[in-house]
Amino acid sequence: MYILNRIGGTFILIFHSRKPSIRANAYELLARHLPDHHLSKNDILKDASIIRAGEYGEQRIDQFLKQFSSPEFLIGLNLTLPYEGETIQLDHLVITPSFALTIETKHLKGHIKLDYENGHMYRNENDHSLSTWIHPLVQAERHQAGLLNLFKKINVNLPVYSLIPFTHSSAHLEAVGTTNILPKNLFRAEQFTMKLRQLIETNCNRLYESIELNDIAASIISYGVNEKIYDVRKKYNLLPDSLQAGVWCHTCAQLSAEWRSQRFRCNICGEPCDETYLDTLYVYLTFIYPTISNRQARSLLKGCNADTVRYLLHKADLIPVNKTSKRVYKLRISHRDE
Ligand SMILES: [Zn+2]
Repeated sequence: MYILNRIGGTFILIFHSRKPSIRANAYELLARHLPDHHLSKNDILKDASIIRAGEYGEQRIDQFLKQFSSPEFLIGLNLTLPYEGETIQLDHLVITPSFALTIETKHLKGHIKLDYENGHMYRNENDHSLSTWIHPLVQAERHQAGLLNLFKKINVNLPVYSLIPFTHSSAHLEAVGTTNILPKNLFRAEQFTMKLRQLIETNCNRLYESIELNDIAASIISYGVNEKIYDVRKKYNLLPDSLQAGVWCHTCAQLSAEWRSQRFRCNICGEPCDETYLDTLYVYLTFIYPTISNRQARSLLKGCNADTVRYLLHKADLIPVNKTSKRVYKLRISHRDE
């Protein structure tokens, strides 16, 4: 059931693999279609880079985890599970015969202040602005509750713990508010191995046999859902006409391709760009509106007439909705949170 994955030259037991973030990729594609003066372009790119940095931090934790890997220590990567009509996203989920563990990795640098009473963490930026995030312990508590809720459904009674390692080498953590003591399960990554060993040593009561862990892992996976992209039109000031038309040329790194003599070709370097029109449609269908008409697609894909667009929408494997005159198209697999 589980698969052997190679991480840094060693095989470890992984029951769910990590895929590159759909959200980070979608944000990066969106930013390509916004002019530099758009109010939110920098925020969008910053959010994408935070997700990418998070993935980097998670890979550091993979390295620490591999020494624990065994048939009694199953590791799930990047699982999205339903909870209370929303989802919880677990960077790492470990299943052992005695306990389950969620690991919520943070890869932030600088002086991070953590205020548990108010439920947030924040950082003063060099430009005197303030970056704030939800307190990772609040997030971990929600993950724990969500996982316990799922365990109840699948009849599993493992206790659930969380560890919150900060992986950036220049992170300075400070608890603020009525206490200046950091929660025990929140620490810099250098302490990760020690914290995990403590957890293993204090939980030696076996509730399951290793053979049963595979079934538990399979049940958890069966509840997994795709990562979702929430409606960010307000947050990022996105209007239908915010998007710049055109098709991306990888060589020139701009929207310089147009339909000319039977294919998309870059106006600058002349290279054919056969695939990136799909990104243009994906950005519209993911961030602006769940369906697109032939006319709307024509205004986004430069140089196309109605017949060409009909052919391209078909080739893009979009699903047609409605009859001829009102026909629109939607994505076969949407990441929008409808
Ligand atoms: Zn080009």
